[in-house]
Amino acid sequence: MTASEDRNLPLFERARQVIPGGVNSPVRAFRAVGGTPRFVKRAEGAYFWDANDQRFIDYIGSWGPMILGHGHPAVLEAVQKAALDGFSYGAPTEREIELAEKIIEMMPSIEMVRLVNSGTEAGMSAIRLARGVTGRRTIVKFEGCYHGHADALLVKGGSGMATFGHPTSAGVPPEVVQHTLVLEFNNVAQLEEAFEQYGVDIACVILEPIAGNMNFVRASPEFAKRARELCTENAALLIFDEVMTGFRVGLNSAQGVMGITPDITVMGKVIGGGMPLAAFGASRAIMEHLAPLGPVYQAGTLSGNPIATACGLATLNEISKPGFFDSLSARTTRLVDGLAGAAAKAGLDFAKDSQGGMFGFFLLDHLPQHYTQVLKTDTEKFGRLFHGLLDRGVYIAPALYEAGFVSGAHTDADIDETVAAAAEVFAKL
Ligand code: PMP
Repeated sequence: MTASEDRNLPLFERARQVIPGGVNSPVRAFRAVGGTPRFVKRAEGAYFWDANDQRFIDYIGSWGPMILGHGHPAVLEAVQKAALDGFSYGAPTEREIELAEKIIEMMPSIEMVRLVNSGTEAGMSAIRLARGVTGRRTIVKFEGCYHGHADALLVKGGSGMATFGHPTSAGVPPEVVQHTLVLEFNNVAQLEEAFEQYGVDIACVILEPIAGNMNFVRASPEFAKRARELCTENAALLIFDEVMTGFRVGLNSAQGVMGITPDITVMGKVIGGGMPLAAFGASRAIMEHLAPLGPVYQAGTLSGNPIATACGLATLNEISKPGFFDSLSARTTRLVDGLAGAAAKAGLDFAKDSQGGMFGFFLLDHLPQHYTQVLKTDTEKFGRLFHGLLDRGVYIAPALYEAGFVSGAHTDADIDETVAAAAEVFAKL
């Protein structure tokens, strides 16, 4: 196709006139990989079609939520039915109870849950709750973990050092992040030091149990266990941000896979099945600090939205069916093993990992353990890989710091087509 025939280009031009960067979330703009973003017309199953009616095998799935693929019949039916009963009431509904009960049934560490509209809101509220419960100020986060764009969480540390970090965004005054301690992921000694030095003022430690915002980096068993112990010993709260991993890496999420019980869990993506819905949950004793019962304020006009809860509930019911995660995991493994085999044939460094329906890979000879190691990946080479796949109808995340997602709608044939495309691209890398 010539540039003059590409319908994505004029849409991007038009979008850039009225929306900053032409997008409503930065990574969609293809800044890291160059080129023109694909404007999506429609999606079905494992595919979406762009403005040129070109079909792509979708390994983003809206950045995680679409675990059943697009337009799963049971979910569609639930959403259509809910829409007929009204879009939003601002008053309680039975479906909110059902979704809360379902989340609690699947997430053993949770006794009560509050629904919100985005992962950002859920993370921000969880931090406020932790500070409210403990009466302490300091929050510990890890470099390379993303917890949404709330001010106090937009912080980066300096070169792998334990630091009260500096803002990663303009518009965040240093004072706002002065109580955010940024540490290196998977660095047990540093976490121990931080507790030794600041333990009495640490309200919480927040982490992604499998960090999907630096591609795919697992918290090591030792690190997760030590984080749990240190929080308990110091009366700080351990927060697992399972916005990405929740109901995505397994039926009981990353905490189930790892056998670690956090105090507060932050959720999003899959629990909304593609609708704006997120949540945070904890024990009854912790959650009862929230308004209207307790002094920690938190609220939302659209929270518990009836269409979103219908979509989320139908999604969770489908993934709870026997065998769903076994077959999802098998397909994800088939994908990463296939890619690794193709890379080996091409003589490329390639390291991969996956859990349930979430995967990551690096153009490196080892799996990174923290952000500084992740940064060693060759971004230029990744850009060529991305565009090579895109040209062949395979859509992976347009940035190397992002995990990928397989859905229940991907077939072995889709996976094999993807691996064959990758083999062609790898040969030219
Ligand atoms: N936490 C994690 C682990 C995430 O991956 C994300 C989004 N990718 C968020 C929080 C923020 O969620 P949202 O984009 O819905 O605000």
